Amino acid sequence: MKNVVILATGGTIAGAGEPGKNIGYKSGVISAETLLASVPGLRDVANVRVEQFCNINSDDVTSELWIQLAVRIEKLAADPQVDGVVVTHGTDTMEETAFFLSLTLKVAKPVVLTGSMRPSTAAEPDGPANLLLAVKTAVSKTTALNVDGCDTSESCITPAVYVAFANKVMNAAKIQKIHANDLDAFAEVDDCCVAPKFDVRSLGILPKVSVLYFNAEADETQIEFAAKISEGVVIAGAGAGEFSKSWIQKIKAVPNLNVVISTRINRGKVVPEQLLTSGTIAAYGLPPAKAAVLLRLALTQTKDSAEIQKIFEDVAN
Ligand code: ASP
Repeated sequence: MKNVVILATGGTIAGAGEPGKNIGYKSGVISAETLLASVPGLRDVANVRVEQFCNINSDDVTSELWIQLAVRIEKLAADPQVDGVVVTHGTDTMEETAFFLSLTLKVAKPVVLTGSMRPSTAAEPDGPANLLLAVKTAVSKTTALNVDGCDTSESCITPAVYVAFANKVMNAAKIQKIHANDLDAFAEVDDCCVAPKFDVRSLGILPKVSVLYFNAEADETQIEFAAKISEGVVIAGAGAGEFSKSWIQKIKAVPNLNVVISTRINRGKVVPEQLLTSGTIAAYGLPPAKAAVLLRLALTQTKDSAEIQKIFEDVAN
């Protein structure tokens, strides 16, 4: 049998509350060992070892944890005794962690994220089935995914990062949480393509980026504040990345701020040709939260908006 390491990070899959209830629980409380014991058939699929990486609600995840997680996964994947790695994770920010790992990991073994929508104490928890699917995926996928639209050069091969959830195995770079409550909470969305590799091993944290949501009459002074507390801004614009004249003027008035324009709409793209504010960067199909991950990574390499636009084009166009 193959050897799989499960890195447990918390989330609802490790959540507990009133027995039988689906809501009103606390995320990230049960241990990795208890989680493992809840899946009886697991030991027939692989030799499984667990590590408690952290035990948090994924809304509390930080770039420091992302970097440490990537470093730990790469170390495990380099071990000839390890055939695959599973990461249990809260669903709220799973798409951000999954995207970060897709953009940073250089591994030739499957890495599979999973989680659950119901806590371990629910009458019918979904965590055990999701974890079983994740381990099965980790032992069955042996080669790296070839990303759509790529040639076969090494830089075009993603690490084999997947999300296994609700009977589906998905490309981790492309997932979005598409439902706040359903068990089938994730879908592969065509929001990105190639995954250039960022080397984050020597970094402690990523540059801070703020995400601002535009709605009718939204106050433009928040752009000024965001510029003070962060190194870049992502705007969830209306439609194909638009916002009011007052926001356009404010962006022009704030010097040296990298501003990525995404959209608050769940489907579709923001492309450079449509941008109304010069010097801003189009996110293409990346939703605001994933655009923020990419901007944070891009800012570790350059502050030049044209170069950042090229990075977004390489990843998401
Ligand atoms: N708040 C939880 C978390 O992301 C939600 C979940 O796991 O479903 O950790």
